[in-house]
Amino acid sequence: MFDLLLRRARLVDDTITDIAINAGKIAALGDIHSPASKVIDLHAEHYVSAGWIDAHVHCYANSPIYHDQPDSVGIATGVTTVIDAGSTGADDVDDFYAITRQAVTDVYALLNISRVGLIAQNELANMNNIDAGAVRDALTRHPDFIVGLKARMSSSVVGENGIAPLECAKAIQKESGGLPLMVHIGNNPPNLDDIAELLTSGDIITHCYNGKPNRILSPEGALRASVSRALARGVRLDVGHGGASFSFAVAKQAISLGILPHTISSDIYCRNRINGPVRSLAHVMSKFLAIGLSLPQVIACVTEHAAEVLRLKQKGRLAVGYDADLTLFDLRRQPVLFTDAEQESLHAEQLLTPLAVIRAGQGYLTEQGSAENAFDL
Ligand code: ZN
Ligand code: ZN
Repeated sequence: MFDLLLRRARLVDDTITDIAINAGKIAALGDIHSPASKVIDLHAEHYVSAGWIDAHVHCYANSPIYHDQPDSVGIATGVTTVIDAGSTGADDVDDFYAITRQAVTDVYALLNISRVGLIAQNELANMNNIDAGAVRDALTRHPDFIVGLKARMSSSVVGENGIAPLECAKAIQKESGGLPLMVHIGNNPPNLDDIAELLTSGDIITHCYNGKPNRILSPEGALRASVSRALARGVRLDVGHGGASFSFAVAKQAISLGILPHTISSDIYCRNRINGPVRSLAHVMSKFLAIGLSLPQVIACVTEHAAEVLRLKQKGRLAVGYDADLTLFDLRRQPVLFTDAEQESLHAEQLLTPLAVIRAGQGYLTEQGSAENAFDL
């Protein structure tokens, strides 16, 4: 007897399968005839994928600038796991951890290398905020919550310090045994070439398609040689859309050169969620469908790729033994107008519409799913 059976689910490769769940884990896939306490028939009509993972959000409710609630950026929008990218540092990660224990959404943190986190915009302008000992203690207190490090390397954040905070971040990373390091890029200094040269396999460049002068493309539209070398070393590109860090023109040009995102993430928090241009991870994913990625490519970026780069070993795949985190969604044909962070717009014809999630085996309707009374969970 299974806890839950999803019948006739459509996968992104258009195969149809049943999915059985037991004790919060995926228990079986295929043509399943065993009974279950609860059965939901998807009529080969609704899609199911592994639960979506947003690799870059801001959901520390007590942050004075970039705050939100985990479930508002998580299950309400079809996302089962969120990774908060540096809202907190060693000083406030304990408070963040305590708050997130009440969320349905699974929350993890990339620890800001600045001990003060995002209490101001310039957390790396004072080198005294980078305290390797404080980072080490925070990692010891939260080994399962902190999955990596975050360093914001743009002029408004680092002030006069140039590349120095990143050199500290790499030293701290080495001491930590090689946790993933996510690096925000934006206005220079520091120059992107100097940033890219310091990054090694498994590091993540977020805001990868930003439209600022210090972007990944040269003025002629070619990929910078420094970024090309970094990618060859195994550095990963993350979208991190945000309010100021995504350009359709840059994304289209990069993708035409074969420079695809490894992870698609939103950089969402309350303001860019409510007022745009981010709105939700599904909205950002739909933009990538509009500029030419396939549905399987887009879904891979928020499932297996995100789980792999953040080392979430129980997530990201529909396979027996993995966490029963799933997203149930439609790909709806409807006219939609998308906007990037450069005030450019793009007309499109389809929108990913999350209707429900299964999180650790329990079903929850999304905002859209409850409005439509989509499933009897
Ligand atoms: Zn950023
Ligand atoms: Zn961010």
